[in-house]
Amino acid sequence: PVAEAKPAAQGRTDKFADHEGVWVYIDHMDGEIVGVSLELLGAGRRLADKMNAPLAGFMLGHNVESLAKTCFEYGADIVYMIDDPLLTDYRSETYMKGTVDLCNKYKPEMILYGATPNGKDLSSAVATELATGLTADCTMLDVNAEQRLLEASRPAFGGNIMATILCKNHRPQMATVRSKVMKALERQVGRTGQIIHETLGMHEKDLQTRVLEIVRETSQRVKLDEAHIIVAGGKGLGDAKGFQLCYDLAEVINASVGATRDAVEAGWIDHHYQIGQTGVTVTPKIYFAIAISGAVQHIVGMQNSEFIIAINKDPNAAIHNVATYSIVGDAFEVVPKLIEAFKKA
Ligand code: FAD
Repeated sequence: PVAEAKPAAQGRTDKFADHEGVWVYIDHMDGEIVGVSLELLGAGRRLADKMNAPLAGFMLGHNVESLAKTCFEYGADIVYMIDDPLLTDYRSETYMKGTVDLCNKYKPEMILYGATPNGKDLSSAVATELATGLTADCTMLDVNAEQRLLEASRPAFGGNIMATILCKNHRPQMATVRSKVMKALERQVGRTGQIIHETLGMHEKDLQTRVLEIVRETSQRVKLDEAHIIVAGGKGLGDAKGFQLCYDLAEVINASVGATRDAVEAGWIDHHYQIGQTGVTVTPKIYFAIAISGAVQHIVGMQNSEFIIAINKDPNAAIHNVATYSIVGDAFEVVPKLIEAFKKA
């Protein structure tokens, strides 16, 4: 099936009537689209449908045309593409120039970027250049279709409230979104759309930056945001020795280990493993929360897990409010029993 590009908005009289469509920045690495971009195509499709507007992906890179097919299969109607050897590696100045040129020519209403290192860098550079707003690190997106306003929500004031931020007077409206908080659409194999090619119009000699070397991370750690089972430990485990309980349980059920900020700050585990507002957002099938109080800054990073099993000796701990199963008890008694039971199973 061929995706039907939505007709341009007709009869619009608002002051931004020349801006049309929802765009998603298609971030890619090693020849593959990064997961959050596909998730954002899903989110973007929902917003675009509410406004009866087209959904586009825009992609910069070199030899990346084959990735357009994936964009269509995940919901895009159009892919804007700039393919140029200068775009082989991410550079702020080339990617910003390409994106700004596309925006000036095609005038999108909204642009969504994954909150990846490149997405964060690019979106802030583009926002500055286009003198428009950017809501960073969003966890919820909606649209007021009548006013054509993006409702971008993110935790604010230390995570105590969710703030919905509107960009009323500038276009495009832009947001970065964390990975794993939106859902990609089911892949529609064979769905196609329209590719629009543009050129970069820059020369290496005009550029101020050069990529000398790319040093890949060598650590073997399982990416927490991809783990199916997570055992997370909190400050209630007392010390590094107590935290070892998480590794013991994780080993028998083949899980990854995560932690609260307090456990990280105590030095029991590296900060890469912090879950929550200032750490990673996770959505595993099973999330064990061991001796974790359930502060809102932690909850926002794990509340979309499918099953949450909380083990806390305080029956009033907030973590029980989001738990699928609550075990009120001492972790040092409960967890060894669980380990025994799992070993027998
Ligand atoms: P505590 O709140 O001290 O809770 C320990 C829990 O363990 C208690 O509920 C207690 O009843 C229980 N307990 C004690 N002993 C036992 C036992 N033997 N068996 C069972 N239960 C036991 N936090 C994050 O996690 N991630 C973030 O990204 C994050 N970002 C933040 C950003 C900002 C701007 C701020 C201000 C805070 C942030 N925090 C974050 C910190 C957050 O507010 C909490 O302080 C933190 O999550 C609490 O960690 P905890 O649950 O390990 O510790």
